[in-house]
Amino acid sequence: MSGYDYDMIIIGGGAAGLTVAAGAAQLGAKTALIEKDRLGGDCLYYGCVPSKTLIKVAKVYHYAKHLKAFGLPDADIPACDLKSVMGHVRQVIDRVAMHDSVERFQGLGVDVISGSPEFVSDREVRLDGRTLSSRHFTIATGSRPMIIPIEGLHQTGFITNVETFSLENLPARLAVLGAGPIGAELAHAFARLGSKVTLIDILEYPLSFEDYDMAEVVIKQMINDGITLRMGSKAKKAYREAADKVLVIEDKTGKEEAVRCDEILLATGRKPNTEGLGLEAAGVKVTNKGVETDLRMRTSQKHIYAAGDVNGRFPFTHVAGAEGSTIVRNAIMHIPGKVDYNKTPWVIFTDPEIGSVGYNEKRAQQEEVEYDIHVEDFEEIDRALAEREYEGRIKILTASGSDKIIGVQIVGLHAGELLGASVLAVNKRMKLSDLATPIFAYPTLSEIHKKSAGKYYAQKIFSPQVRGILKFLFGYRG
Ligand SMILES: Cc1cc2nc3c(=O)[nH]c(=O)nc-3n(C[C@H](O)[C@H](O)[C@H](O)COP(=O)(O)OP(=O)(O)OC[C@H]3O[C@@H](n4cnc5c(N)ncnc54)[C@H](O)[C@@H]3O)c2cc1C
Repeated sequence: MSGYDYDMIIIGGGAAGLTVAAGAAQLGAKTALIEKDRLGGDCLYYGCVPSKTLIKVAKVYHYAKHLKAFGLPDADIPACDLKSVMGHVRQVIDRVAMHDSVERFQGLGVDVISGSPEFVSDREVRLDGRTLSSRHFTIATGSRPMIIPIEGLHQTGFITNVETFSLENLPARLAVLGAGPIGAELAHAFARLGSKVTLIDILEYPLSFEDYDMAEVVIKQMINDGITLRMGSKAKKAYREAADKVLVIEDKTGKEEAVRCDEILLATGRKPNTEGLGLEAAGVKVTNKGVETDLRMRTSQKHIYAAGDVNGRFPFTHVAGAEGSTIVRNAIMHIPGKVDYNKTPWVIFTDPEIGSVGYNEKRAQQEEVEYDIHVEDFEEIDRALAEREYEGRIKILTASGSDKIIGVQIVGLHAGELLGASVLAVNKRMKLSDLATPIFAYPTLSEIHKKSAGKYYAQKIFSPQVRGILKFLFGYRG
């Protein structure tokens, strides 16, 4: 055994750090987890958990306002009290936080230490005047909102996802800058809660990394819910005028528009937390994307790993978890393993949701991969009709000329849950027949897999050739 204080020291107790800590300690490695704030990280306090709770509240409110569409008597629904809504959000956070408590990790054998350590060499960190050494380290310090430079923005005032869930009053008019996952989800939730939302982005359409035919379903719903879209527009400056905040945006033709609002929500990307860690002293290479890693999550120092948002790869909690598990496997179990980013799913929790795994058309075209597509609409699925959720579709990509599934996108009610079968299909290199032959329960949305795959075979089975052969063999007269 080495003379180090620990086998593994983890810096940052969010999704990535907690995964490494739990895995390493349970495998018998002497483990320390150093966190500067609370265990749980962004996902728990300012990300996935509060945003998904808020989205659910917004959906319930939306239903309550549209009772007539279900044949129910219309109700007079009062304006939403955001303070009360955020109280509910905090209750959910508190429940989830129990899974990430200090006591739980101490119970697993982890030394949970409070503070912000700094590397003094590649094997030592200094914290509150003491030096701790370790055989391995994991950097898992996450990311923070990227604040893009806009003239006058700081004087005008703005919020990010960090302040959003502490708001007490619903902004009557909300300008959301950035139509990626965070901006689109929050814009949609606030619009449904009653804010007049303007969603602004320099890119062509919201969620522009998705194929347009999938994003379009969400965009239509956003417009139906009263969101004003200003795409292809850049924020130039911000100022205050009386009680208003004003965001001046410029479109591609150079035309300026002053968007008046009560609050500006910035969702213009993420910045990895790499500062103050003494990474130079440890000899760990950092680029403007974050801490550089290989697919085994090793940094330029092979015994120092980096997982989660800090490495700038895929900013999702499940990816942080997968990277953390890969570190446990490589560093603690000494079994080489890599993260396969090509088959990583993601879900955007707008309403409807969009889920994606493997290739979409954009990526296939970029990588010059030839493909066929198989599409089925929610309108063909009885359960979707019963749910009154007509808008949605599945798109399965197969390798050109074959039935091997290389990617799936689903937009529609519960797309995130539906994606589970697609994740298996892509990861296990399944064929369309693997989706077409099992029996799916009726009436469920998951029948959409069978229907879309079944269509492919139906064209072959119900062909004039097959009819001709059967008539010849069995003397059918139809
Ligand atoms: C609004 C929003 C919604 C999101 N929704 C989803 C979603 O639905 N699904 C999904 O998969 N992902 C979602 N994400 C992304 C997800 O939150 C992140 O990918 C995930 O939290 C990354 O985990 P992490 O461990 O890398 O970082 P974090 O969870 O942020 O943890 C980093 C930890 O490190 C600590 N730390 C930082 N610096 C130091 C230091 N110097 N010393 C000690 N400790 C330090 C921090 O306090 C923090 O606890 C969302 C993000 C946002 C902002």
